Amino acid sequence: MQAFIHPTLVKLFDGIKNFQQRAYELDSVNMKGLVEDGQHPKILLIACSDSRVDPAILTNAEPGDLFVIRNVANLVPAYDIESKYDGARAAIEYAVRDLEVEHIVILGHARCGGINALLKTLSGQKIQRDFIGDWVSLAMDGCMHYAIEQIAKSDNELGESVSEVNLDNLREHQHLVERAAIRGSLDNLRTYPWIKQRIDTEILNLHGWWFDLESGDLWATDAENTVFLPVIE
Ligand SMILES: [Zn+2]
Repeated sequence: MQAFIHPTLVKLFDGIKNFQQRAYELDSVNMKGLVEDGQHPKILLIACSDSRVDPAILTNAEPGDLFVIRNVANLVPAYDIESKYDGARAAIEYAVRDLEVEHIVILGHARCGGINALLKTLSGQKIQRDFIGDWVSLAMDGCMHYAIEQIAKSDNELGESVSEVNLDNLREHQHLVERAAIRGSLDNLRTYPWIKQRIDTEILNLHGWWFDLESGDLWATDAENTVFLPVIE
């Protein structure tokens, strides 16, 4: 009997062999410590499931560095004690209350299919999917609040009327909607009582990041998590 590796998966199998050499044969101490002492990541990173924005690849992270949650459009649902079967909330709770991470980063990105689905829903198009429409609607409040605020601001600077802000504007500014969704998820994180308590006592920090797929640039929120600024070294 031999394990079956489908031809499409051979590249992954080769990757695991490479990792085994790198992490176990050449640098066995790190993995040994992680196995014996357990994981102690300081960062919870919430990213999109999109294949182009794998957080470990983007950040060159090592085993033990990141506790990661990935879902469509990197969304965080608000605290809801009645919701019993939700992977995102359970993983957030484990990261914060058990692993005691010190930072939560929400990593969004350009050309997000989930945010595009949200924009379609907002413009009245029916998403022919069983779960995606409801899931991305989690970003509705953040999108309506922060994206419209931002677009209205830039329109005002151009001398245009705030009343011109509508769904067409939103579609033209998908990157603002992506960033607005990140801010909405940061707001939702603050609805978890044990997260709010840790923020208030300054043992936990929230961060919003947005990755520009086209240029490779990273944008990050300021200390108040209100605006996104390019990260320049
Ligand atoms: Zn995405």
